[in-house]
Amino acid sequence: MIRIELDQRADLETYRDFSNLTVGGADFGKKIRAAHPAISVENFQDYIRAYYQDNEDLLVRGVREIQDAVGATSQDFFAAVHSVFDEDYSQNAYVGALSIFDCNPRFVETQSFQVFFQRDLAGKVGVVYHEILHFVFFDYCVRHCADAVRGRSVNDGSYWELSEILNVILLNQPAFQAIVGRPEKLFYPALAEIFPEIEKIWNDRPDMLPFVEKSLRVLDERKINKN
Ligand SMILES: [Zn+2]
Repeated sequence: MIRIELDQRADLETYRDFSNLTVGGADFGKKIRAAHPAISVENFQDYIRAYYQDNEDLLVRGVREIQDAVGATSQDFFAAVHSVFDEDYSQNAYVGALSIFDCNPRFVETQSFQVFFQRDLAGKVGVVYHEILHFVFFDYCVRHCADAVRGRSVNDGSYWELSEILNVILLNQPAFQAIVGRPEKLFYPALAEIFPEIEKIWNDRPDMLPFVEKSLRVLDERKINKN
C-alpha cells in the first residue's frame, strides 16, 4: 500500500536538515534556494506556513495526481519487485508526502519519504518508486544477509552506495521501465565511476543474495584503496 499526503511539519524538518547539506556531490541547499530564493534560516517557519496557505489548491491537486498515478501502476511495480526479490511487498505500508523542497529524503525506520511537488508527474512517480525500492532492498538485506549489512548505515558508506546503484540497475530494466517510463539516472555524481563494475556483477548473475555480498566487498575495497 502506498499513501501520498501533505505534511507541512515534515517540510520544516527538511529545511532544517537540508538547507546547508551536500551529499555525494549533490548540493541540497542550492536546490532549495533555486525553488525558493526568498527562504532563509531566519524566516523559514513563517515562509513554509505561508507557502502552504497560498498554494493549497495546487498542493492538494498534486497529492491527488500522484495517488491516482501510483494507484494505476503499483500492482505492476510490486510484481516486478517480486520477480527480483522473490517476495511480495505489496502489503507493506509506505507513506509519501509531497514536499515544497527538492530534497526527496526517505526515512527507512518509518518507510516514509518526500517528493518534490514541482517535478512533472512522471518525475514524481519515479521518486515514489525509487524510494520504495530502497525500502524493499534494505528490508531484504536485513532479513536475508544480516551478517553482510550488520552495523552498516543506510545513509552513507557502501551499503547506501549499493542501494543507489541497484536502483539505477533495476529501474532501467524493461519491467520497471514499463512503469516509470523514463530512464533512471544516477543521482550522485560520486558513484558514477564505480557504477559499471557493480552493474556487471548484476548482469553476470542477477541473483540478489550473492550480488549484495559481492558488491559490498567491491565497494568496501574501493574505499580501502582510496585511503
Ligand atoms: Zn535514492
